[in-house]
Amino acid sequence: MADTIPVTVVGAAGRMGRKLVAAVCGDPGTSLAGAVETPDHPGQGADAGLLAGVGALDVKVTASLPALLEKTGVVIDFTVPASTLKTIEACAKRGVPVVTGTTGLSDEQKEEVGKLARKIPVVLAPNMSVGVNLLFHLVELAAGMLGPGFDIEIVEAHHRLKKDAPSGTALRLLEVAARARDWKASDSARFCREGMIGQRPEREIGVQTVRAGDIVGDHTVIMAGAGERIELTHRAHSRDNFAAGAVRAVHWIVGRDPGLFDMQDVLGLANG
Ligand code: NAD
Repeated sequence: MADTIPVTVVGAAGRMGRKLVAAVCGDPGTSLAGAVETPDHPGQGADAGLLAGVGALDVKVTASLPALLEKTGVVIDFTVPASTLKTIEACAKRGVPVVTGTTGLSDEQKEEVGKLARKIPVVLAPNMSVGVNLLFHLVELAAGMLGPGFDIEIVEAHHRLKKDAPSGTALRLLEVAARARDWKASDSARFCREGMIGQRPEREIGVQTVRAGDIVGDHTVIMAGAGERIELTHRAHSRDNFAAGAVRAVHWIVGRDPGLFDMQDVLGLANG
């Protein structure tokens, strides 16, 4: 255990939190140092390994992150935006790097994360899957090559419990596609269509949301021109791939200088 990276998971009893605990324990280079949940969570005091279905780990779920930071090498946080900001604030005070996949951060919250990332390295990625990060790359390439004669539409589908919409991944796909066209994402986005909407403007990127059942996460980018179309689709079959990506980011972030990074950096896809 001596040369493993001690990781604390915030949101440890959540859907992703339990996958993250399992992934951290399953990786020979990382070990679970702590597990944090809200004070009123029924999982308080439980063994994080039992909650995650990987057997007892002798790590109890607790409510206080700062108390764990002394023995933590990296914190992983998949919770809600306000909680993630608190996590990064606490880690910035103690010089502990953070890997977070929380989505739904406002522009102000992202700006705050950027400021805190001057003190510590932070990986903030709306989607930690390797496949989705390759999709970002392919969409940028295709949107640029096909040019404005091809309309771009993004469709995402997730489970009924997801709190934010559109997904962080869909918003990132919007940014990537807009950048390939030299458009501003906020000016081109069209999140809703209803009624007599008239002809589709040329500089528009539609982003549509589906919420149903237990869909883990589907993203399709349609690029349709005259007489043909391309559809690029990624489907997540389980949350395991997000957790594996987060553990990959843990290995990457150790020893980095402060800064705000994403999975493109972790996977070596940035600026390439
Ligand atoms: P969830 O609701 O199942 O889990 C969130 C957990 O965080 C809950 O157990 C909740 O009690 C806990 N929590 C909330 N506030 C907290 C606080 N202050 N301290 C400690 N724990 C706190 O949600 P989920 O499906 O696991 O998703 C969590 C986040 O991760 C969402 O923003 C989701 O969109 C995002 N997500 C990202 C990726 C990715 O690859 N980046 C993949 C899946 C989900």
